[in-house]
Amino acid sequence: MSDDLQPIRESVRALCAKFPGEYWRALDRERAYPADFVKALTDAGYLAALIPEDYGGSGLTIRAASAILEEVHASGCNGAACHAQMYTMGTILRHGSPEQKKKYLPGIAKGELRLQAFGVTEPTSGTDTLSLRTIAKKDGNSAYVINGQKIWTSRAEYSDLMLLLARTTPREQAKKRTEGLSVFLVDMRNTKGLTIKPIRTMMNHATTEVFFDNLCVPAENLIGEEGQGFRYILSGMNAERILIASECIGDAKWFIGKASAYAKERNLFGRAIGQNQGVQFPIARAHMQMRAAELMVHEAAQLYEAGEDCGEEANMAKQLAAEASWAAADMCVQTHGGFGFAEEFDIERKFRETRLYTVAPISTNMVLSYIAEHVLGLPRSY
Ligand SMILES: Cc1cc2nc3c(=O)[nH]c(=O)nc-3n(C[C@H](O)[C@H](O)[C@H](O)COP(=O)(O)OP(=O)(O)OC[C@H]3O[C@@H](n4cnc5c(N)ncnc54)[C@H](O)[C@@H]3O)c2cc1C
Repeated sequence: MSDDLQPIRESVRALCAKFPGEYWRALDRERAYPADFVKALTDAGYLAALIPEDYGGSGLTIRAASAILEEVHASGCNGAACHAQMYTMGTILRHGSPEQKKKYLPGIAKGELRLQAFGVTEPTSGTDTLSLRTIAKKDGNSAYVINGQKIWTSRAEYSDLMLLLARTTPREQAKKRTEGLSVFLVDMRNTKGLTIKPIRTMMNHATTEVFFDNLCVPAENLIGEEGQGFRYILSGMNAERILIASECIGDAKWFIGKASAYAKERNLFGRAIGQNQGVQFPIARAHMQMRAAELMVHEAAQLYEAGEDCGEEANMAKQLAAEASWAAADMCVQTHGGFGFAEEFDIERKFRETRLYTVAPISTNMVLSYIAEHVLGLPRSY
């Protein structure tokens, strides 16, 4: 396959080579944030890939952004510490006012302002976003007062800004089921009324709970029209799905590469274990599964880039890629036998990291239900 993105892939690989397994293992033990890695990606302009050049970004395509994240993961690194910076800014870009774009995008592009936190999920509503309870109440014309709680707000401790979805009109008074929610750009450097509590998870993910207690947000930080926030958030989801899918493809490639190399070098019963078809076939199967998912990621990215609707392809890409990376992770542990469990091989770390993607940012059943209802026309189930 011809790949016009080869130069960018090579540069990302070269950058990632400076952050080997030891670096990630040490952070993983402490659940510490990969600040140096994120700084290196920021300095290289990769996190500003999708910000147009007019605002100081790299003005690259989604295919390029996908290639960046895929290479990060295929190199054994983890983009989860910063990938949201790439796509959350899309909400400002598409729905923000000219003043908001001018005020925030150049700073985000330079890395002076971090927009890495995305507050949608809540403990009581989960996937049922329209039932969220965080309230933003207008206080005169100049501000909103926010009360409520978010959960799984990743990177909140390492972000200056948060894109927050909150209810501005009570559900029963909203004209439509999907109206009454609004998006705010919350400046988290103003900590009055904001409490962030880290959640320790099975992998190093810097995720948190965020509590809002009469947090005051200037009215000028409302993005777009009041009440239309759900639509704005949905419009950014295809990019998110495509980018996360690319990370999963990168993970799958890493696992397949590790397993193939080990199967060739590990000698037992007088020959390489990879000479046994019982060891070869699962690696070959994982490769096929990854390649099929990769084609779907490419199709989704091409449609996105052409400005066409790609909800079906982006959802399928995320799901197929997340399943492919998980299958490859399992295969890689099996190929390594006991060594698959040893910290120094990095496999158990990557195994834990890649498990996330059939749950977040959207879980398997929600993707299946989207395909069933919106693609196949089956009855709505919820
Ligand atoms: C490490 C991590 C990081 C995250 N980062 C962020 C973030 O930065 N910002 C953010 O807003 N969110 C974030 N999330 C939240 C993530 O998007 C949700 O966990 C995910 O969407 C699933 O929601 P839930 O956990 O509330 O599960 P629930 O909604 O409680 O669902 C539980 C299970 O039930 C299934 N289910 C629910 N309803 C139905 C139905 N009608 N039919 C069939 N099955 C159903 C779901 O598919 C799921 O398997 C993160 C989560 C994790 C674990």
